[in-house]
Amino acid sequence: MKNIYFMGECMVELRAMSAATLHQSFAGDVYNSAVYLKRSFPQVATSVVTALGQDNLSKKMLERFESEQLDTQFVFAHDSKVPGMYYIETDAFGERSFTYWRSDSAAKKVVSFLNTDVVKQLSQGDMFFFSGISLAVIDENAREDFWRVVKQLKSAGVKIVFDPNYRARLWNSVDETKTQYDLAFGLADVTLPGVEDLTTLYDVHSVEDVIEYLKIYNIDEIIVKNGPESVITQLDNTLQSHTIIPVTNVVDTTSAGDAFNGVYLGARLSGKSIADAVQLGAKAAGAVIQQPGAIAPKDVFQLAMAKAGI
Ligand code: ADP
Repeated sequence: MKNIYFMGECMVELRAMSAATLHQSFAGDVYNSAVYLKRSFPQVATSVVTALGQDNLSKKMLERFESEQLDTQFVFAHDSKVPGMYYIETDAFGERSFTYWRSDSAAKKVVSFLNTDVVKQLSQGDMFFFSGISLAVIDENAREDFWRVVKQLKSAGVKIVFDPNYRARLWNSVDETKTQYDLAFGLADVTLPGVEDLTTLYDVHSVEDVIEYLKIYNIDEIIVKNGPESVITQLDNTLQSHTIIPVTNVVDTTSAGDAFNGVYLGARLSGKSIADAVQLGAKAAGAVIQQPGAIAPKDVFQLAMAKAGI
């Protein structure tokens, strides 16, 4: 059985439904990817690597992971911290605004749980995924330990997968981000950047610019996303362009990239070609953006994937 580890933060989501009603769910980029991967490729063992607390919301979050058939052996329970949370509101013009409480979340402490024993177990994996958000979230003073773990996994033969997913507000400066991303790209075997994410950081404006920029690194598999525009991939120096069929009924683009990543990686772990994996990832993303919120209802998602042939 193939397996993949998704390291990062899942948060409590509070969504304003009306003046008096909040809907509570759970979301976070790596968690969203893990959910969509597992729903599409149940034969791939899919683990979340994170830290929660000992509070009731943490317990409910853990139950949600389990109800999505995610492996939770690397979901650690911090003795005093609690999960991060965000509030999302959509105004009369459809414009979304977010408020976050995540600066002291349990997930910031995840690296402190990655002891020798855990690293040994993670070393058995096929892929280890983290994003720019995962990097921004972990405690600054845990970064050195984190990179040591990533290097250990890589030398054990685990494929390192990185999505830069840049969120300016999570970083102190662009220079700090670039230093961390340089380490990430330097270790990555697979990367799945979006053009928009890298524009501010490296002044790149097209998929071709991104491929050109990444030439300084030794990355085997590059998948560049650009909203409804073509996806460009590079595998062992062979470039391919993949046409995306735009969907018309876009309701909420949250987690388009996350759904794409999860399903793409699930497809690759299941032996699909790059071209097939991109098409499946794109189908998943196209289905997800026609639903509100980060996690689309299971039946709707599964129907869309069945139509795509899985
Ligand atoms: P992110 O969520 O990282 O900003 P993108 O907007 O680049 O991600 O989109 C990720 C993927 O989602 C794209 O590569 C594409 O497959 C799919 N996608 C995004 N927007 C559309 C759209 N309007 N129609 C169809 N597919 C889309």
